[in-house]
Amino acid sequence: MTSRKHVVYWHDTESVVPSPPLREDTGCDVAIVGGGYTGLWTACFLKEAEPDLDICIVEAKHCGYGASGRADGFVTPTIGKDIQALVKEFGTERARAASQAVGRSILEIGRFLRRNGIDAEYEASDYLMVATDQAQLRRLREDRELAGLIAGRDQPELLNAAQAQAVIGSPALLGAIRTGGALVNPFKLARGLARVVKERGVTVYENTPVLRVVPGAHPVVVTPGGRVTADKVVIAANAQQFTFAPFRDRTVPVWSYALVSEPLTDEQRGRIAWPGREGMVEAKTFLTCARFTADNRLLWAGGPALYFFGRDLRKRRMNDPRAYRQLHTCFQRFFPMWQDVRFAYAYGGAIDITRDYAPHFGSLPAGNVFYGYGFNGNGIAATHTGGKVLRDLMLGRDTEYARLLYVDDRHRMARRFPPEPLLSVGAQVTTRMLERKEARL
Ligand SMILES: Cc1cc2nc3c(=O)[nH]c(=O)nc-3n(C[C@H](O)[C@H](O)[C@H](O)COP(=O)(O)OP(=O)(O)OC[C@H]3O[C@@H](n4cnc5c(N)ncnc54)[C@H](O)[C@@H]3O)c2cc1C
Repeated sequence: MTSRKHVVYWHDTESVVPSPPLREDTGCDVAIVGGGYTGLWTACFLKEAEPDLDICIVEAKHCGYGASGRADGFVTPTIGKDIQALVKEFGTERARAASQAVGRSILEIGRFLRRNGIDAEYEASDYLMVATDQAQLRRLREDRELAGLIAGRDQPELLNAAQAQAVIGSPALLGAIRTGGALVNPFKLARGLARVVKERGVTVYENTPVLRVVPGAHPVVVTPGGRVTADKVVIAANAQQFTFAPFRDRTVPVWSYALVSEPLTDEQRGRIAWPGREGMVEAKTFLTCARFTADNRLLWAGGPALYFFGRDLRKRRMNDPRAYRQLHTCFQRFFPMWQDVRFAYAYGGAIDITRDYAPHFGSLPAGNVFYGYGFNGNGIAATHTGGKVLRDLMLGRDTEYARLLYVDDRHRMARRFPPEPLLSVGAQVTTRMLERKEARL
């Protein structure tokens, strides 16, 4: 019997030599708080557009430590929670423009990795959105209709049970649709991207937590070892965005968990038809998803999304036996022929949920502190597009990207989460409502 490691599987695939922390006061043109994909892509695109800009990234731990290095690695066109929430928030036309941009990002990430010699185990591959009951089948049909509407072409084919099971041999599948995307090792993507931005002249301070950002004509990023005075600041702290005063009630961190098996033997792999290695995602809000890693482990993730009182982000929340039990029960339902598969890793990560389930980009009223957050668990491709949105907003360029997912801040201000204890009660009620609504669909 293997003992499980409660560390992120991806973190074990690449070692980290962190950049030195900030140890003195300094100044720059642009200071970015957070070395996840949002901060890194923003730095990358700004530097490409204006090579002379002096840019620094200030990261509490190391680049890729947050959601970017612990994602399940599905590079999908999804923006925010799902396609239904996106259309509700932005309307069909704007949802179409954003989806097309994020679709381009999927390909551009692959190209970026190749050009820069980053081996992030990128596999251009469809994923299957699957249904395992009648409610999910109805959800699949709705999503398929919206996907067709947004893409402006024929709806993707709805596979019946036999067709779906020929792609992924789970007896639980009743139907599926194929969606274009890719798979990636998210940590290697984040670390590779960090290396490239450093090579292009961006200064990266790691192990440097930002205590606060002081607004003003020249905003100041305050850290324990020194202050960075900048012309412009970007706050890209994702699940910790709420720790910065202007965003206090705007996001809620919700924990999602993953199990990663030992490498499957050829005999185990041969028991289930899964010839194309497609990722699999269940058609529901509290979905489970599955994929293979480069070394042929099975990653089985999702299940319950847990909120802990007071927006608890302590490290011990990374480990939740209840969540693992639910995930494992669900795994046995999907793959009864893999009873002997042992899970070597079990861990969690926090997702940033917004009231409207959509990403937020913009600037605070003074116009020199920018933000990008609210990817609602779907950010690998969307943060790449988000980096371009932030670049154009910051450079004052009136482009397609500057308008893409931008919503007037006054509109956003009306959408705040309530304080505790109402927040906890609300989180439980919303979870139950979503579950009931989806069971009825
Ligand atoms: C478990 C899990 C699975 C996921 N799976 C997928 C998936 O399969 N596909 C997909 O598209 N998306 C997925 N996501 C979502 C995706 O990972 C995120 O949307 C994306 O990584 C967000 O990038 P980011 O840069 O905004 O945030 P992060 O990567 O979280 O970066 C924010 C950074 O800010 C730093 N920070 C925070 N506070 C401070 C501070 N005070 N001072 C300095 N630094 C600070 C953090 O340390 C962190 O490194 C998943 C997320 C999780 C948690």
